[in-house]
Amino acid sequence: MLRINDIIDKAQTYLPPEDLEMIEKAYIYSASVHQGQVRLSGEPYLTHPMEVAGILTNMKMDAATIISGLLHDTIEDTLTTAEQLETEFGRDVAFLVGGLTKLSRISFGSQEERQSENFRKMILAMSADIRILLVRLADRIHNMRTLQYHPKDKRIYIARETMDIYAPLANRLGINSMRMELEDLSFQYIAPDAYNELFAKVAKTNESRDRYTEEVKSIISTELEKYSIKCKVEGRAKHLYSIYKKMHEQHINFDEVYDLIAFRIILDSDQEKSCYEVLSIVHALWRPVPGRFKDYIAMSKANNYQSLHTTVIGPYGERVEIQIRTKIMHEWAEKGIAAHWRYKEGLAFKGSEENQIKKLREVMEIQHEIKDPKEFMSNLKLALFPEDVYVFTPNGDVKSFPKGATPIDFAYSIHTDVGNQCIGAKVNKSIVPLKYKLQNGETVEIITQAGHHPSKDWLKNAVTTRAISKIRNWINLEEKKNSLVLGRDLLEKEFKRHNLKFSSYVKSDEIKKVFSECSVNSLDDLISQVGLGRISARRIVNSFLAGEPVSIPEPIIDKIKKRKTASQSMGVSLVGVDDMDDVLINFAKCCNPIPGDEISGYISRGRGIIVHTKNCPYIKKMGKERIVGIEWNVREENTYPVHIRIVCDDIKGVLTEVSSVISSFDINISYAQIETINMVAVCNFVIDINSLNQLNQVLAAIRQLKFVKSIERLRHF
Ligand code: MN
Repeated sequence: MLRINDIIDKAQTYLPPEDLEMIEKAYIYSASVHQGQVRLSGEPYLTHPMEVAGILTNMKMDAATIISGLLHDTIEDTLTTAEQLETEFGRDVAFLVGGLTKLSRISFGSQEERQSENFRKMILAMSADIRILLVRLADRIHNMRTLQYHPKDKRIYIARETMDIYAPLANRLGINSMRMELEDLSFQYIAPDAYNELFAKVAKTNESRDRYTEEVKSIISTELEKYSIKCKVEGRAKHLYSIYKKMHEQHINFDEVYDLIAFRIILDSDQEKSCYEVLSIVHALWRPVPGRFKDYIAMSKANNYQSLHTTVIGPYGERVEIQIRTKIMHEWAEKGIAAHWRYKEGLAFKGSEENQIKKLREVMEIQHEIKDPKEFMSNLKLALFPEDVYVFTPNGDVKSFPKGATPIDFAYSIHTDVGNQCIGAKVNKSIVPLKYKLQNGETVEIITQAGHHPSKDWLKNAVTTRAISKIRNWINLEEKKNSLVLGRDLLEKEFKRHNLKFSSYVKSDEIKKVFSECSVNSLDDLISQVGLGRISARRIVNSFLAGEPVSIPEPIIDKIKKRKTASQSMGVSLVGVDDMDDVLINFAKCCNPIPGDEISGYISRGRGIIVHTKNCPYIKKMGKERIVGIEWNVREENTYPVHIRIVCDDIKGVLTEVSSVISSFDINISYAQIETINMVAVCNFVIDINSLNQLNQVLAAIRQLKFVKSIERLRHF
């Protein structure tokens, strides 16, 4: 059994005394809170956190990580609270253990294999600090090492989960040693027969293989000594799972797997070019097998692995696989992301190390700029997938959404009908409002009611394009239905004013001409355009009467008619006119006035009163006789589209940050687009504003963002 002194002994080789004291304190704490608890093996529970801490110490992790290893089950399995941990061990440790507790509460249900990438992403997203993930992996390793105490079905289940989720995660982080151990342990339980057979075969050939390994190693060493190259040569049997996979993928027998042993030349030098030198020496010694050379130095793997791989014809005419790498590359190959703690304490970065970290940062998709590499390592709050949130369906399937997604987005992701009929949602079994923002790892259930409809408000709470377009579709359809009724009504009235009958004109041949004049395709289209206020009923009458000697009186203020509700909802009224019934109002596209702007009205022909801002250059050119005084008469729910343009630094997440500022004012964004020119990003937004005052507040808030260079309200003068 591992003792605390073993951990301290190892830790003191790289950690300062005050860290060791803290580790010891965490040990005492863990021992006291876990007292009396036993594992399935019958051993005291404490052995588990101790082993986890031991694994982390072997990886040379920092004190907070080792302490979190010792305490990782305290919140979940004892009466300990996060607050207590913070008082005793500081915020860092409390944060890590808190994160581990959240991770341990995820239940994976019976997931399909194809979804494991989503699970991995979710775990990554929940590991706000990469150390959380490293402790989680160490935890899993020890649980796998002691899996034999579980009942059989549980063993297989846990082993599958490890193979599907944790081994690939270790691989993604480049921690090869962990990946191989997790794979071999899982393999042993998932396919025990294959494992045992392979294990026996490898063991049987052990002795002769050892002799052979020594021989090859010594030939390589002797040769390299001639060139005074300082290095270490290793020859190790590959892990069983990789041999098994090879046999399966290539449909070959055990005897046909020629490269059971991977030879490695690890150079003292940290120069990449030395690797190529050694390669040429090896190739001069033994003939290379064509097509088997791989240069992972020039083209490193996605997880940042670097090495040269070659296969040569060895001393007995057999194939020998040889890997060539520098010490630093080797450390990364073994420990991946965990390796950089070695360099934490103020050590200067040499070129290639810095490169490694830079590449790794790209791999990990880190968003913000971190100039000082030390800063990068000390606050490893790696936001791995900051834009996404992962949640469960009641069946245990994982769905991913952009951050800020609500139950509405979730509902539409299941089915349009589920979305349309959604009346509420449960998150982790409690009811939440539809505007609730989903969090990683939550289980979401949608409550529907047949015959329920979406509302315009939902657009404020939906973030996925799918949900937004489905809601819009529904609203458009609904508006079209209403506009047909209204349009017919307006047309009939207008025709009646001229003592004409709409229904008889509809049947006449004239109608085709009207269609093309108004660019519509059908009668319904025409009627609905009138109902939506896009074409005036008067214009239709005029079209029908064109050529006929009927005099239509010039439109003057009190004769421009439209339905009452429409003019009210525009939020303006004419100065000195009490009866605003049925006045058709339009806002000028050029200056696009909003409440708070000083405005004037212009009486147009056929389009009612056009509202311009007082200072609009266009209205200044118009004849005075057609200008009327007009004033705001706004109701709170009226909103007006405003086009704003923001120029800012071209960094990631600009759109998201600006959007979230706008949304914080509860303002709807109806259009957003970003364009990058010469390191400068230009964002265009159309937002629904209710007043000049509100607009000024939003603009001021956006101006506060440090990456914003300028911002303006756009008009088309
Ligand atoms: Mn555990």
